[in-house]
Amino acid sequence: MRTAVPIGIGGVLILGLLSWATGTDFLSLLNDQGATQVSDSAGPVQSTPQEERKVDLVDAVARDVQNTYEQELGGRYQRTRVVLFRDAIESACGSAESATGPFYCPGDQKVYLDVGFFDELTKRFGAPGEFAEAYVIGHELGHHVQHLLGLDEKARGAAAGANSASVALELQADCLAGVWGHVASQSGRFKAGGIELDPGDADDALRAASAIGDDRLQKMATGRVMPERFTHGTSAQRVQAFGRGMSSGDLRACGIGVRGT
Ligand SMILES: [Zn+2]
Repeated sequence: MRTAVPIGIGGVLILGLLSWATGTDFLSLLNDQGATQVSDSAGPVQSTPQEERKVDLVDAVARDVQNTYEQELGGRYQRTRVVLFRDAIESACGSAESATGPFYCPGDQKVYLDVGFFDELTKRFGAPGEFAEAYVIGHELGHHVQHLLGLDEKARGAAAGANSASVALELQADCLAGVWGHVASQSGRFKAGGIELDPGDADDALRAASAIGDDRLQKMATGRVMPERFTHGTSAQRVQAFGRGMSSGDLRACGIGVRGT
């Protein structure tokens, strides 16, 4: 994946570098500058060079993904932010720890991402690669699209299970990530300042999709598969949903009407 990773432009991403100990309300410290550091009253919080590289990547991907969704949906899309945090953070959906994994919070309409999750993706799930990380961001921003369009309503409070509304919603978010993957595969995008995928990048994403299917996660955790507890879909379903978006590049393939349709 090629990206120019411009630093500090656009303000799409905010890095809340946190520590367990302080108990500060970090959200109130966040600003619009896409900063790689956040200060609190105790002074600036140090980030490692690897984390800063991560911040730049997430920033670039979040901007690119949102450009795509905006292009497809016009005024129906409203840009949001990805909050990258370390250890723990408070969101409108409650407090999150690294163990929570990436999530979208409808309450404040932001995506929350723990810097350590990408290491997890590589080590624990065996799904390395920058595009695997981009896929996760595309998926979470896909939930933002669903929220803006009111598509998440029907899954609220619904039961889990292989054919549940919540699984359908997760698979749709995978499909939306795929639509971005399609757009980002067009050549000439890198020259134009966007992200351009290399051949083989899609394999990274598909590997990630199959690594984080409910069946695989459950098997890793409990040694068996329990379809009645599914909330995200199986690995095969997730790969298929992502592929539907990736091959078509069309939101309608994900069940979402585009402008004028
Ligand atoms: Zn999801």
